[in-house]
Parts: sequence; C-alpha cells; structure tokens
Amino acid sequence: MGKQSVHKLVVGHESFKRDYFSSEAALFATLAGGVHEPKALVISCCDARVVPDVILQAEPGDLFVVRNIAALVPPYGKGHHRAVGAAIEYAILGLKVRHLIVCGHTQCGGLRALADGPVRLAAHMPSLAEWLADADQLYHQIRTHMKDAGDDELVAHLAYESVPVQLENLLSYPAVRWALERDRIELHGWVYDLNDGALKAYEPVNNVFVELDATGRPTIEFSLGEGP
Ligand SMILES: [Zn+2]
Repeated sequence: MGKQSVHKLVVGHESFKRDYFSSEAALFATLAGGVHEPKALVISCCDARVVPDVILQAEPGDLFVVRNIAALVPPYGKGHHRAVGAAIEYAILGLKVRHLIVCGHTQCGGLRALADGPVRLAAHMPSLAEWLADADQLYHQIRTHMKDAGDDELVAHLAYESVPVQLENLLSYPAVRWALERDRIELHGWVYDLNDGALKAYEPVNNVFVELDATGRPTIEFSLGEGP
C-alpha cells in the first residue's frame, strides 16, 4: 500500500470519528461499557471485496467475525484449526450467539489458487499451501466431474460446493455439537455473489442455494451436484 493509500485511510478514520462515532454516541457508549452481544458468528473470506458488516448492513456489536482465506472451517483436531476453533468456541460458549454463518463468495482468489496446485504454491507461499490443503480434495472431486470446464467456471462452482463442506466441518467441533443438541444455535451457509451483491443460502434438504429474501420467498439459484 502506497503512502497515498495510507493517507486516505487516516482521512477515513478521522471522518469516522468526527461523523459516525459522534452521531452513534449512545451505541458506542454501550459497547464501551462492556456490552458485547453479537447476533451471529460469521466465518468469511479475507477478500477485501466481501465485507460481512457492509453486506448485512450491521452495526458495530452485531457480528462476531472470523475471516480467513477462502472462508474455510478446518476440521476440529488438526493443528491449524485453532484460530477458527477459538472463535467458534468463544462465540457459542462465551457470547452465546444464536447463528453461525459460513459465508463464501464468487470469484474467490483463495479457491482459484487451488487450481495452481498446493505443490506449486508451497514453493513461495508455504503457509497458504498448507491452509488450502483441506480444500484441495474438494477441488479435485469437482475437477474430475467437470473435466472440460475452464478455471473460471470451476472456481464459480467451487464457491458453492465448498460451503456445505465447511458446514459439515463445523459439526466436528464439540462446542457446535453440544449447542446443536440443545437447540442453542442454527447453522447457515451463504455465498455472496460479487456480480449482483446477492446472498444465496444453502438449503440442505434439497441441496440447493436460494437467494436470501426477507419475505421468505425462495428462488432456486444454484443446484449442487450438477455437472456441466
Ligand atoms: Zn475469497
């Protein structure tokens, strides 16, 4: 980031403090007073274009967010699960959030990196290669089903196919199973579409994604398990 960009951020912060922070003084005083009662844990990608608080028009204090490359949930018990696992456990047992949301997105650079192959990645980005290794199996499954697909089509498909896998991985966490058995949490799998700003939600019963609609009218947008 160049000097000019940093300056832009500082100007932005000054604007935040002067305008937003002062106009929402009551909210920020409540938060500073110790109230931390987020409505949801959101596990989303680091991608700068996919900002959960903006997409959901949430206020400070609403969302407990953990972001990582490609919005992955590593299976419990592997060494690299800890950052996500710590957020999951604290969200459920400490903050008592009701909703756990895995939010992937289209045009995901992390998922695209799988196409390069972990071995090639490992040469210059070993941490990234190790992190993406969990998703590599899924990539190869889809690659096998979509032999003739180009990388763009494959990555688009992978964005949707990945979400149910991450939801399944959530179930490997004892805290998640404990809370589900007591009906204390609900799991949600969403994909944010960069093209139109829509959120599509996974419906496990029918194995489809439907666009989120506050009126509750489902519109099937994407079916899983379909070859090209
Ligand atoms: Zn991404």
